[in-house]
Amino acid sequence: MALPHDGLSRDDVLTQLEHYTTDDVRWREGRAFTLAYNAGPDVVAIAEEAYRRFATENGLNTHAFPSLQRIQSEVVAAVAEWFHGGSEAAGFITSGGTESLLLTVKAARERGRKERSITTPNVVLPTSAHAAFEKGCYYFGVESRRIPVGDDWRANVAAMEAAIDDDTVLVVGSAPQYPQGVVDPIEDIAALAVARGINCHVDACMGGVTLTYLERMGHPVQPWDFRVPGVTSISVDLHKYGYSAKGAGVLVHRTKQLRAYQTFVTDNWLGGVYGSSGVLGTKSGGPWAAAWAVMHHLGDAGYERVTAAARTACLELTEAIDSMPELTIRARPDTTLLAFGATHPEQLDVFAVADALWARGWYVDRQGPPASLHCTVNAVHEGRIAEFVSDLRAAVREAGGMSGDQGAYGTVE
Ligand SMILES: *Cc1c(COP(=O)(O)O)cnc(C)c1O
Repeated sequence: MALPHDGLSRDDVLTQLEHYTTDDVRWREGRAFTLAYNAGPDVVAIAEEAYRRFATENGLNTHAFPSLQRIQSEVVAAVAEWFHGGSEAAGFITSGGTESLLLTVKAARERGRKERSITTPNVVLPTSAHAAFEKGCYYFGVESRRIPVGDDWRANVAAMEAAIDDDTVLVVGSAPQYPQGVVDPIEDIAALAVARGINCHVDACMGGVTLTYLERMGHPVQPWDFRVPGVTSISVDLHKYGYSAKGAGVLVHRTKQLRAYQTFVTDNWLGGVYGSSGVLGTKSGGPWAAAWAVMHHLGDAGYERVTAAARTACLELTEAIDSMPELTIRARPDTTLLAFGATHPEQLDVFAVADALWARGWYVDRQGPPASLHCTVNAVHEGRIAEFVSDLRAAVREAGGMSGDQGAYGTVE
């Protein structure tokens, strides 16, 4: 496609881009139960404004931008405080969960190589752990040993233990895991790591913020953070339940020494010493500033409010689905993620239900095995569950006898 010879005006450009969004899911109105998170128009506006101010600032070199160094260290310190990291904890902002998990695998591989001369490393992790671990293992030449979860969808720790050998560099638990929304038995998984002096990562990309504030509000939360001995690193996505703009996660390590395995430095080229904390080179200051802005705007009280809103909406949705005989909840949600399937899969195809929901403007995730729909409930859904449930009932009626397509959580086009 050729560009216009004479550039379009600012107004024309923005109008055309806006036109492109016509068929996008209307997440600002709470129609997305995945991919977008929304704590209200004020929070969105602050994130967008801070993002715009720092969009062209470059986090590759914080000597040139002390502002970004300060923003990064304050964001990481706030996250370390959430997770009871102690004074030794150290981390970096990443571009999100995938980069955090890639670096987790890379750091474990480096530690195994340096401390135990391991040349054929493996990772032991439940089948519920995020797909990005698979990507990391593939990128970095590490074997992925996936262990089936138990009947309650939680990690089967005895089976994980049996899969560990002298080449294991990392064990993984999630808080919560994405597919069914349950928290793995982190204490037991971390104990496997303590006994062997290997890394244990807790993937709290989804639940890090929610679990922190649920606990502070007095809800029962099983131990999952740095208070658990043996947990060596934790990831959280600020662009999920941190309610910031896309492109911001944090990977925190228990110590600076463990963090050292994450970074990369070379002078083996003609450009001088080149160091980077993560996968990217040039990185926009936009997501960092947006995260700092939203975190400071919401504060602890704001996060308690939006966490409570999301949790209440999730429980309301859980009860409504539980009362529908055609549908079966996979597990009672530990945070704000919910999965459900057809009670009689031979009579009802849940992917056809998802098609009927999308025809009504609602976007839910499709997953399997087993064939299920998945809702990431967040603050925007407060007060909107009743309307969704009424459309879900209609979608179930409409889908009887139809078949749908599983689609994909991520795409390659
Ligand atoms: C979203 C998610 C990831 C991946 O994060 P991205 O920001 O999509 O790269 C990893 N783990 C869990 C549990 C997640 O929910």
